Amino acid sequence: MDDGWLRVARLLSNIGPHTFALTRRQKVFCGVAGVGLVAAVSASAIGVEYSPNSVAASLGGPFTVSADSSVAELRNDRRHWIGGGGGFANPWPSFKDVPFAVPFAKLMLFGDKKPKVPIAADRVRAQHINWDRIRKDANYDKMHLTWLSHAAFLLSVPGANILLDPCLSDRCSPLSWAGPSRIVNPPCKLEELDVDVCVISHNHYDHLDLDVMKKLVEKKKDILFFVPMGNKKLLVDAGISNVIECDWWDSYKLHKPASQDSPVESNVQITCTPSQHFSSRTLWDKNKTLWSSWHIQSTVNQDDNEDDDNTNILAEANLNEPISSTSATSNPNTITKKFFFGGDTGYRTVLQGDSEDDVATCPAFREIHSHFGDTDLAALPIGAYAPRHLLSNVHCSPRDAIDIHHDLHAKKSVAMHWGTFVLSREDVMEPPRLLRQEMEKRGMREEEFVVVDIGETVTV
Ligand SMILES: [Zn+2]
Repeated sequence: MDDGWLRVARLLSNIGPHTFALTRRQKVFCGVAGVGLVAAVSASAIGVEYSPNSVAASLGGPFTVSADSSVAELRNDRRHWIGGGGGFANPWPSFKDVPFAVPFAKLMLFGDKKPKVPIAADRVRAQHINWDRIRKDANYDKMHLTWLSHAAFLLSVPGANILLDPCLSDRCSPLSWAGPSRIVNPPCKLEELDVDVCVISHNHYDHLDLDVMKKLVEKKKDILFFVPMGNKKLLVDAGISNVIECDWWDSYKLHKPASQDSPVESNVQITCTPSQHFSSRTLWDKNKTLWSSWHIQSTVNQDDNEDDDNTNILAEANLNEPISSTSATSNPNTITKKFFFGGDTGYRTVLQGDSEDDVATCPAFREIHSHFGDTDLAALPIGAYAPRHLLSNVHCSPRDAIDIHHDLHAKKSVAMHWGTFVLSREDVMEPPRLLRQEMEKRGMREEEFVVVDIGETVTV
């Protein structure tokens, strides 16, 4: 609920003493009714179901979930909402709407210079996941990020395994027999993934893979799902009920006490953050649901991690503090690790004839940094950017990804959104080449922005 609505509610409840001399109970009723009324009007105006933060308390699963209010002032910015059921929009000059669907489809189907899929030996490399390494360290203060292909990652933090955009099917398409098919396999079987939380950036088929999500829930019912606004219905209709739907800057704290199965307490904060993209699942629902990036941070007690018995107790007190602007918290015994997931995003719009240097860039990542401080680890998209004049507004080039890496003040970034499906016109193996060239040009160290194998784990 933003300040405007609260003011209306307060106004309604304050009419009583001055005008109608209502009882205290009547005033409370009036206030609550006012809040409910304006919330309902507001939700219907954008044409999606809006789940207030209070839903968190009723969710099942091992986590205690609570809404975080430290980002409340940022939630008041509703420039990305379109009224009258219009859905959502990118509210920055860095985004220009490019009617790309028809020209892009023509280009992919009939254009010359189609990207050639390299022979298997020349594609992105894959390796088996080193589960021992992830599990061994999971009880300590490390954060492990394992690339599962395209934009799919497993983020393992103390006490919680968080799956991001798990598109692991053979095709990213509404059809099982047509649409982009994967050119490299995922590094593990679905059954090998032990998932506590699943985070989705938006509803495109290469990010929201409903089949996989349903299979995950068949295996483990209480997985907690986070989706941007308007996407909850799709999951609920598919039988997935443990869902939190977020607007940009909605933030939740997850707490799970230590148990026999998991001898470590889990303290995770998940915040839905902006990105420059769009949504569509069908030909008729463009931008009706929201898209987002995500900021995830995990806090552990350093002293207790040194115990041999792994019965570390995490700093509950730290969870109740406002988010600090750096990784160091006011409690010297705690360590907070911050992860940023870019999902799918553009950074600028470069139309034909435009110079990359002269167009506006997306301010969202600078804003994310100004709120959360430096990022310890970021997963950023580097592929599906050509032709630039059709795709730059919604997809990053390697150069864009490096700019975002710097905007976030990321200590390390991992490349994603390349090498798995052929979604655009650049050569399949071009994104990492351009990334390296751009990094050399800027004098960056190789370990600042890494290109990993599928199945490889990065630890910070
Ligand atoms: Zn997308």
